[in-house]
Amino acid sequence: MRACLKCKQYVLIHPDNFISLQIVNKFEKDHARHTIVTMELSEVRDFYTNVEKIKNKSPVKVSGD
Ligand SMILES: [Zn+2]
Repeated sequence: MRACLKCKQYVLIHPDNFISLQIVNKFEKDHARHTIVTMELSEVRDFYTNVEKIKNKSPVKVSGD
């Protein structure tokens, strides 16, 4: 899975799932200026939010700090 340290969000990677790959690509683009790392789910599940569960909320505007 890919996680953004800045936003405390993650996205799961399902290599065989085209929709999932699109979500991962969008996640990496959205967080390109942040710190994206590859982690195991067990490392972050208590601290991070799955971006797929919050995508219906208003996106957080990040104005590049
Ligand atoms: Zn981010």
